[in-house]
Amino acid sequence: MKHSTTRFIYRLSEIKERYNELKSSIPAHRIYYSIKANPNIEILTFISQLGLKAEVSSPGELIIAINAGFNPAYIVYGGPGKTIKDIDFAAEKGVNYFSLESLSELDKLDIVEKQIGKNFKRILRLFIPNNNGRLNMMMPNSKFGITLEEVKNYVANGDNDVYGIHLYSGTQINETGFRASVIQTNQIVSEIESIIGYKLKYVNYGGGLEWPFMRSGKPIISPTKVEGILPDIESCFEFGRYLVASCGILETEILDVKERNGYQILIISAGINILNGISASGRLIHQQPDFHVSNNKNNNIMLPTAIYGPLCTPVDYLTLNTLLPQLFQGDILTIPNCGAYAANTGISNFLMREPAQEITVE
Ligand SMILES: *Cc1c(COP(=O)(O)O)cnc(C)c1O
Repeated sequence: MKHSTTRFIYRLSEIKERYNELKSSIPAHRIYYSIKANPNIEILTFISQLGLKAEVSSPGELIIAINAGFNPAYIVYGGPGKTIKDIDFAAEKGVNYFSLESLSELDKLDIVEKQIGKNFKRILRLFIPNNNGRLNMMMPNSKFGITLEEVKNYVANGDNDVYGIHLYSGTQINETGFRASVIQTNQIVSEIESIIGYKLKYVNYGGGLEWPFMRSGKPIISPTKVEGILPDIESCFEFGRYLVASCGILETEILDVKERNGYQILIISAGINILNGISASGRLIHQQPDFHVSNNKNNNIMLPTAIYGPLCTPVDYLTLNTLLPQLFQGDILTIPNCGAYAANTGISNFLMREPAQEITVE
């Protein structure tokens, strides 16, 4: 097979470092890996062996999590739009923890429970409007979660059985915001307990710690313990980006070079076929990537440069204006911090290019 000129290289030791950092600040609490950040099977297997649990939100993610060795009994199954079929499938696979996004999902869980004669742990994903994170999931017309009003209605309607709550308000939260969110969540725990009239057994504080995307930088969380984590219940956290973003670099080949109006025009192998899905999903914090020239021929004269992918559409560009040395067909560019929301988000069906190769190294 032809050697792919577009490849993600994942360094597993980076994931272990990030996990160790999280463990120093959040010792002795369950940490989930949010599979949507990167479902590469070798990464998943490595993470399950480190001892993390999995957070999934589709039958496909559930299957790959189990294949990677995650114990289904500790998987939390979340995400909007669950059908009875999805819940039934997850239940069959041994899932106990369901993070429920609506009252109708609670009803669906009831139905599956009756069908198969088993009790599940009902975790209410709550909708609490706020401004945490750079990608706000909790705008007034958000699709996520259950409101406090709805919890009150649920309780007023009779029998209820709430195991815990799940808060996840946004991604790219900085450390200060993250630490503050634990205290805010504790207040919500008390509020829910006063509505339902009994103690919760579980709280998922969420996560969403920041890490640069496609740009250099290492905002490592300080080892100071996160304060306020409730000690007497199952207190959990979940991270995607923080765990895996730093492990990945993307290597892309320069396929062609032109000169246009004083600009160096580069056509590279990784355009929106590899990276655009992220912007489509709002995950691209609009900024241009850092490009590193891996075989710079001591050429220090910087040229205004536009970088395009190979697709037959003008929207396929990574930057229209940056400065790079003179480059040539066959040169390799690398982009850092591409381990999360990258390889699994390209729009590879559009123009039918091959996906990138993915390689793990120690
Ligand atoms: C995406 C997601 C995460 C992971 O977010 P990161 O910003 O990658 O850490 C965690 N929890 C839920 C519910 C999510 O949807």
